[in-house]
Amino acid sequence: MKVVKFGGSSLANGEAFQNAINIITSDPQRRVIVTSAPGKRFADDIKVTDLLIKYAQTVIAGQNPQEIVEQILNRYQEIAAYFGLPADKLIPLAERLEGLPNHTYPNDNYLLAAFKAHGERLNAQLMAILLQHLGYEARFVTPSEAGIIVTGTPNNANVIPETYANLSHFTFNENELLIFPGFYGLTLAGHIATFSRGGSDITGAILARGLHASTYENFTDVDAIYSANPQIVDHPQPITTMTYREMRELSYAGFSVFHDEALIPAIQGNIPINVRNTNDPEKPGTMIVPDKDFQPSDIVTGVVSGKHFAALYLHKYLLNKQAGFTLRILEILAKHNVSYEHMPSGIDDITIILDRNAINDQLIDTICNEIQEEINPDRLEWIDNYAITMVVGEGMRNRTGVIDDILMPLAEKHIAVPMINQGASRIAIMIGTYNEDADEAVRAIYHRFFAN
Ligand code: ASP
Repeated sequence: MKVVKFGGSSLANGEAFQNAINIITSDPQRRVIVTSAPGKRFADDIKVTDLLIKYAQTVIAGQNPQEIVEQILNRYQEIAAYFGLPADKLIPLAERLEGLPNHTYPNDNYLLAAFKAHGERLNAQLMAILLQHLGYEARFVTPSEAGIIVTGTPNNANVIPETYANLSHFTFNENELLIFPGFYGLTLAGHIATFSRGGSDITGAILARGLHASTYENFTDVDAIYSANPQIVDHPQPITTMTYREMRELSYAGFSVFHDEALIPAIQGNIPINVRNTNDPEKPGTMIVPDKDFQPSDIVTGVVSGKHFAALYLHKYLLNKQAGFTLRILEILAKHNVSYEHMPSGIDDITIILDRNAINDQLIDTICNEIQEEINPDRLEWIDNYAITMVVGEGMRNRTGVIDDILMPLAEKHIAVPMINQGASRIAIMIGTYNEDADEAVRAIYHRFFAN
């Protein structure tokens, strides 16, 4: 049995739904279907999830939401009309959407989560109705019926192990297609909580693990995952097969085709993931597989740059002799609830790399002031435009000279490299550059490894 997840652009309108239905019904193994909310139909379009966020904000502000409700309903009506579905079939969906403000929520964050989740929920319901309309045996299954239980915050939830115990008791019959909404689960107190944005991938992976799928097929709008971002490198090479941990390292710095949190359930269940194109389903896509027995054919699998970093640089003589020095810095960060990404250090220096999106200017000043006061370094510097380029490949293991091939093209282009970190992972090398050099760095490294 395969779990098949369709992304938002794969379910954005009637035609896309038809493609998805053709894919579902062309392989009897495709039994468990996970839907995203309808995504963008054209470049300037608005995703249903974003419309739902606006709906929630309108309700929280005490304004009349009628216009936005109609805009959301319209998206589902357009899809239904494509299939000539009688209008009354959509009444339950409309009632649910309109009724959202009448429920009670512990606070506005829960309200937002519940509204947001309905993009997926209504789409799954619609998919089940359409499949039935076309003569297939299909059942809409809610996370509550399946027992998808989460903890954490209402808009950034995490699945808990109890979910897998629940799923192991979930039964379904031979011929039916099960349609699950992606993106959310229920808290222990029974409220809706969503995963982080793009989180329908996570639901697919949870179901693939919990229902013991042979493959988790993830249908999106690209032919494959590429060795570099096609917006930066011209026609990069598609990746045929990669390992879970290669994907982990690459998604860290920005490979966003597949949600990084969605890898975990797949890894735990040893389920191969196949990323494929809804618009060209004959293409094999990219397989993401366990590390065991994987034989790399290239040295490098992918190169990616993330520009959302910043760094705190400290210099203090005899830093290496001071017990508790790092601890005191980390205590300051922890006090402000800031986690660090990496911390390469030398004998007298330390660089603390942070996620720039997780920290505002005021907090930067506060933290720097406290470090200055508490630690009194000889030099304290805030580097605001830090980029991390990840060069990743199972083929790099046990290879000598790879670092030369990475640094040489950067030197040729006069790209400054303030940090190199090979760290504990033998399949990834992390290169720090300044933001303005990041794209050039990716191109230079890519061409070195993939020129032929
Ligand atoms: N619809 C949600 C979002 O836009 C989740 C998803 O598409 O996976 O973030």
